[in-house]
Amino acid sequence: MKSNTHQVAIIGSGIVGLAHAWAAAKTGAQVTVFERTDKARGASVRNFGMFWPVGQPADLYPVALRSGELWREFATAMKTTARPCGSVHVVDHDDEAAVLEEFVKLGGDLGYECELWNRATVESRCPGVRPGIAKAGLFSPTETNIDPRESIATLPAFLTEKFGVRFRWKTAVTEVTTGLLRTADGTKHNFDDIFICSGHDFESLFPAVFTTVPMKPCKLQMLRTVPQPGGWKLGPMLASGLTLRHYANFEICPSLNAVKQRIATESPELDRYGIHVMASQDRNGGIVLGDSHEYANDIEIFDKAEIDDLILRELRRLFDFPDWTIAERWHGIYAKYPDHPEFRAEPLPNVHIATGMGGSGMTMSFGLAEMFLGKQLFSS
Ligand SMILES: Cc1cc2nc3c(=O)[nH]c(=O)nc-3n(C[C@H](O)[C@H](O)[C@H](O)COP(=O)(O)OP(=O)(O)OC[C@H]3O[C@@H](n4cnc5c(N)ncnc54)[C@H](O)[C@@H]3O)c2cc1C
Repeated sequence: MKSNTHQVAIIGSGIVGLAHAWAAAKTGAQVTVFERTDKARGASVRNFGMFWPVGQPADLYPVALRSGELWREFATAMKTTARPCGSVHVVDHDDEAAVLEEFVKLGGDLGYECELWNRATVESRCPGVRPGIAKAGLFSPTETNIDPRESIATLPAFLTEKFGVRFRWKTAVTEVTTGLLRTADGTKHNFDDIFICSGHDFESLFPAVFTTVPMKPCKLQMLRTVPQPGGWKLGPMLASGLTLRHYANFEICPSLNAVKQRIATESPELDRYGIHVMASQDRNGGIVLGDSHEYANDIEIFDKAEIDDLILRELRRLFDFPDWTIAERWHGIYAKYPDHPEFRAEPLPNVHIATGMGGSGMTMSFGLAEMFLGKQLFSS
């Protein structure tokens, strides 16, 4: 346990910064979070709110499950939305059904809790699936639907009330050295440890660190329907056969290559924009829909109508929600460190960079931050 004279600064109030603030505060340190905007406005409030352990490779699955315990602790304490609804990958091709079957066998041996569902079960448990289309479904019980806007807005209050974490909003950090940071108004602040959790803005403070690191920003387009009528419920969160080529867990299946090749040949437009389709439900009943993946130099500030149309085309092929009226469209950008769960560096003593979780920040941040701070940084 650190004494509360151990001062820790966190730069960034997205999920990665908040996870580090929580983990550091639990060691007994006095934690201050610096956020340059008036509230978190980055990737952490722009996502699906899918806590999605099943998408993780087997070695990270237990870390994701630990994150889930922490999400439950937070949601229970603050009475925020956390729907432990599980997930279903709904597939409509035989080659995709073969991947699901293979994953249930191989993944089961590795500890994933999954069941293969036939069409009748998919249709009875997932009211949004178009009748007669599913070849099979992969049900996983470990997924939880979080509302990102609600939870990221509430986490600061939780950390302040329970752990005395301080927040400095509208305070950009412009310079960091060992033991000291400077904010945009020129003020200097002393800290024992400084964590830079600045999301896709990873280069501003320590550009030299990233000249040789293959870190990439990635832009995703998203949509949300109006609240569904009559309190209609989605049931488990939904993914499709396209998703099999997106998450690392399915890489253990030799049959996946055939799916990837067919999609590349039949629908190159989906690969061009990295499109796979998923659906979650927000606390007001709206269905959150997405997404696409455009990397680095392909990223433009303007969203492409073509991408939204492709996402909706693929979703509507499989799913039939009562009301498809689109209420909101937006994009988010995250930092992706390819083939790694996250990026960590210590550019100066006691100055730590943590970013690069890609599409898994809501799933992995709590577990990874706790693991890093608990076992490595403060273990002495
Ligand atoms: C569209 C979309 C859908 C996604 N869906 C999911 C999902 O369903 N499940 C899942 O697990 N993950 C999902 N993700 C991934 C997840 O959202 C990200 O991994 C995660 O939000 C990244 O968090 P972060 O804290 O690194 O970044 P951010 O949330 O972007 O936070 C970084 C913060 O740092 C602040 N900052 C930067 N520089 C400074 C500075 N110098 N001084 C002060 N403050 C600074 C920024 O203002 C910002 O608030 C999705 C991402 C997107 C974009």
